[in-house]
Amino acid sequence: MGCALLDSLDQLVELQDLDSRLARFREELGKIPVRRQTGAERRARGDEELEVAQKALADCETRQRQAEANLQDREAMLLQLEGKQHQVKSNEAYTALLAEMEQTRGLISEVETVLLEGMEEIESARGELSQVEERISAERDNLDADEKVLAKSEKDLEASIEGLEKDRVGVCGNLGGDVLSVYQRVLKRRQPALVLVTEELCTGCRVGIPAQDFIEILTAERLVTCMNCNRILLHPDKLRAEGA
Ligand SMILES: [Zn+2]
Repeated sequence: MGCALLDSLDQLVELQDLDSRLARFREELGKIPVRRQTGAERRARGDEELEVAQKALADCETRQRQAEANLQDREAMLLQLEGKQHQVKSNEAYTALLAEMEQTRGLISEVETVLLEGMEEIESARGELSQVEERISAERDNLDADEKVLAKSEKDLEASIEGLEKDRVGVCGNLGGDVLSVYQRVLKRRQPALVLVTEELCTGCRVGIPAQDFIEILTAERLVTCMNCNRILLHPDKLRAEGA
């Protein structure tokens, strides 16, 4: 009888160890989708930044093309006005024509200024875009590397969990049904479910253990639970040297 319970205690310690590792691995596995989501958000922000920089350059180029077309129109207009110089019949008409030509030259000079500024804008937009491209490309490389690491740890964690679950089935099969059901019941409310006894205290809740219970823990006649926190109590001497 006592010997069977001692075996069970060792198995219980093993089961608890498996459960705590399983819980840790499952928690880590659970964090992976969140980390993946964070990566996807960073990627989307990078794409957006790139689009903004591309659009800024495209807008500058559109404005420049409009200014160039505008310049051509005004130059054509000036040519036309110049062509009329020898056709005008009166001084008044000639004066008016000269004024119109002067005004057109003024407009041409304005557009030329706009074009020069536009060239500077395009250059700075190109510089900005290539900086963003460089940064985003490095960021994408990082994100790809992160994803590889994530995929690998996901795979590793799933394999570990699968292995531990198999081990758990084995340990549960070796445990007596009563011991297992006590463990499962305690585990639902207290973690860890299994604690060591030191100096006649439950290390789970630090409450003293009644003398009769302590004797029963030492003799390992039955599974003793803490009357305060309900955890299963184990004496270190009752465990096989290694596991403890
Ligand atoms: Zn306790």
